[in-house]
Amino acid sequence: MFNLPKLPYAYDALEPFIDAKTMEIHHTKHHQTYVDKLNKALEKYPKLQKNSAEDLIKNLEVIPEDIRTAVRNHGGGHVNHSFFWQILKKGIEPKGEILKAINKKFKGIDTFKEQFKDAATTLFGSGWAWLVLNSKGELEIVKTPNQDSPITHNMIPILGIDVWEHAYYLRYQNRRPEYVDAFFNVINWEKVNEHFLNAKK
Ligand code: MN
Repeated sequence: MFNLPKLPYAYDALEPFIDAKTMEIHHTKHHQTYVDKLNKALEKYPKLQKNSAEDLIKNLEVIPEDIRTAVRNHGGGHVNHSFFWQILKKGIEPKGEILKAINKKFKGIDTFKEQFKDAATTLFGSGWAWLVLNSKGELEIVKTPNQDSPITHNMIPILGIDVWEHAYYLRYQNRRPEYVDAFFNVINWEKVNEHFLNAKK
């Protein structure tokens, strides 16, 4: 069965960019609910419980139809949030191979940020914006609705931002662009670089 992972930092570690209350509710309520509902969906299918959540959402077509939507939403929610917590940390500058690759692909980190912000702010409704390594092995900015994961679409997530209102509403209300600007101050570029290096293997 799946469990809620512990955060590698305190709830107030990302203040003032992401507030402690939002982090606490996001982790203990929203993420916990995805974990609970994923476990519930798999109750009838003990064999599937042996898979990793990543494997479940990578091969949605083999998931029994009666739980496929639940696995897509809650398995995706579990995978996406587990990933999100890991790539957050205050005070890390862009660096390493990922910075070189971003500079090459997007003609500089500022252009990358503009394009990533554009994706995050124009996503209609709830979902995520991502920097992924696509199936051609190239960096690409993509959006996914709801809790759909890039993994399901044969892409490897390098960096991602949760733009569901629950991720920012307490501090930013309807001002998603301000939340996205703040997010750029709490990206753990060391972790993002690790994801990039692993994805390239
Ligand atoms: Mn969320």
